[in-house]
Amino acid sequence: MPSVRPQYAHRILIEHQIHHAMSKGGIEPLSPPERKKNEGNKEPIRVGILGAGIAGLYAALLIDYLGSESGIVYDILEANPDRIGGRLYTHRFSDSPNDYFDAGAMRYPKIPWMKTTFELFKYLELDRPETLIPYHLNDPLGNNFQHFNNISKSSSQLQTANAQGDFDPFRTKVVGLTDSVDDLLGKKLDPFKRMLAEDFQMGWEDLMSADQLSMRDWLAIGIETKPYSEQLINYLETVAGSTGLFNCALSEAIMDAMDFDYQPAPDWFTIQGGGDVVSNSIIQRLTQPIRQDCRVIAITPVLDPKTSKPTSLKVATISKAGSTVESEYAHVISTMPFGCLSMVDTSALEFSWDLQTAIRTLHYDSAIKVAIKFKQRWWEKLTRPQIGGSSTTDRPLRTVVYPSYGIGSEDATMIVSYTWAQDARRMGSYATGHDSASEQLLIERIKFDLADMHDIDDMSILDHVDHKIVDWYKDEYASGAFALLAPGQFSSIYREVTQPVMGMFHFAGEATSVHHAWVVGSLNSAYRAVLEILIHEGNLAMIDKLTCPESPFQQPDEINSMLTIVQVALGQSHRLSKPVDPSHRHWLQQGY
Ligand SMILES: Cc1cc2nc3c(=O)[nH]c(=O)nc-3n(C[C@H](O)[C@H](O)[C@H](O)COP(=O)(O)OP(=O)(O)OC[C@H]3O[C@@H](n4cnc5c(N)ncnc54)[C@H](O)[C@@H]3O)c2cc1C
Repeated sequence: MPSVRPQYAHRILIEHQIHHAMSKGGIEPLSPPERKKNEGNKEPIRVGILGAGIAGLYAALLIDYLGSESGIVYDILEANPDRIGGRLYTHRFSDSPNDYFDAGAMRYPKIPWMKTTFELFKYLELDRPETLIPYHLNDPLGNNFQHFNNISKSSSQLQTANAQGDFDPFRTKVVGLTDSVDDLLGKKLDPFKRMLAEDFQMGWEDLMSADQLSMRDWLAIGIETKPYSEQLINYLETVAGSTGLFNCALSEAIMDAMDFDYQPAPDWFTIQGGGDVVSNSIIQRLTQPIRQDCRVIAITPVLDPKTSKPTSLKVATISKAGSTVESEYAHVISTMPFGCLSMVDTSALEFSWDLQTAIRTLHYDSAIKVAIKFKQRWWEKLTRPQIGGSSTTDRPLRTVVYPSYGIGSEDATMIVSYTWAQDARRMGSYATGHDSASEQLLIERIKFDLADMHDIDDMSILDHVDHKIVDWYKDEYASGAFALLAPGQFSSIYREVTQPVMGMFHFAGEATSVHHAWVVGSLNSAYRAVLEILIHEGNLAMIDKLTCPESPFQQPDEINSMLTIVQVALGQSHRLSKPVDPSHRHWLQQGY
């Protein structure tokens, strides 16, 4: 079954646009920018790209592709003085080729909706076999295992147990384990999945009637199947996910399940050398430098003195040292994660209440990766060697990810714990600084659990050199790991963030795409933002250049040009109710 997210997104926008068309005043037609009404104005169109994560970098790459005929020039303003790439973050313990781990994005399945990502790899010439290498989702030997209730079972042992009708391999005595975990979840989700795949319209209506429900709610309800008990739901959540993850929207869980429903199972890939090879490769191609240490703190409209209509946007930034700079742009593309955006003063733009609510409430999940640089690649030397893939447990570390790169090499760095949701928040409370007592304790606890899980008696095998913890909620440049929607959020938020305010303030970044939490979502959103700019500017030639069949950047499936045009028209109709009062920016002009 293919991903239904694009259809889902189109459906939300159609309903939103019909609602506007039927309301008093209807939808105003697209109008050219105020600036352009002044014939003969040949000033370049200045675009401020806020954030140099993959969405910001890709937007710049697209603008560069359009070339000077587009009349567009850009600045990239990045808050982080030390690093570019945002949540594409590779930590290297040394210069040795495999002595690294990806703290953010690390794997890419080759499935149709990942098209934009793989096209980008091709454009950047990263699709060579020595760079785009296989990522083992499961280890090819079947030795990856699950360790719950102090019992370890390898994937092959679990398969055998299930085939023999033993559905409680971890001896939990949970009532209702009448099937495998996948089948128990499938029984509840499959009716929706089938309906959406066979008749999207009917499936959509069913799904929307349950849009306010969480996955946990749905499992506890007895429509078509018996309600699952709290005990059974907790078991399923523990084995299949992370603690608290079933509080996410049911619609999200269903679409997630459909996203990966491919037969045969797709191949997964990773970038040899780390995910930031992608961002660095874009940076090398950009025509404009990136302005680092420029944290955006306020965005205000600039009004035409004669008509009092907004003509551009002023972006104020501050450096770590406290110096402020203001820059003026015809458009801004904000790729800042919403936690960061909400710290920016946008009050003078008078965002609608619904948009403000979207920015404030969108649920970002927690995620932490803990990596240890060991003295030896011990996991590949066990009686049951672990060659890539991952093992899971109910111990605090939850998931161990064995590297798919550097197999058999001397470099011995591994992600010893990858947690989400409440598991990550708890882990994060111990991550109090590299040399702090609590962090040392955490590392020792993880090593103890690793030894237990892998049946290691001699702890010296796990001697280590260093460790690194990346907690995405504690990262001031991310304020969360990725969007994971709470019940009801998708339909109410997507329509707001795909509607550029005044046709000038464009939202991009993973959270503003149907494929949130993936690099492809960031890329698709950046593509939409650039398309919105071209639509607002009425630049048909450049729209054609970007979207024509010969373009190396094909229009992503979630973007429908007609719907985007109407979203831009709706965005243009945003009116400011009061004149901009420059004194509201007074606090930042004081510096620190
Ligand atoms: C733990 C984890 C695992 C993941 N795994 C995968 C995976 O395996 N595969 C996959 O495809 N995707 C994965 N993702 C998702 C992927 O990493 C993200 O979707 C993507 O990198 C986000 O890019 P972005 O440009 O949208 O946002 P970001 O990368 O967050 O970029 C936003 C930029 O804005 C900057 N910024 C913030 N505030 C300001 C400000 N005030 N002024 C100026 N700049 C500012 C930030 O410093 C940052 O550089 C993962 C993410 C995480 C966290």
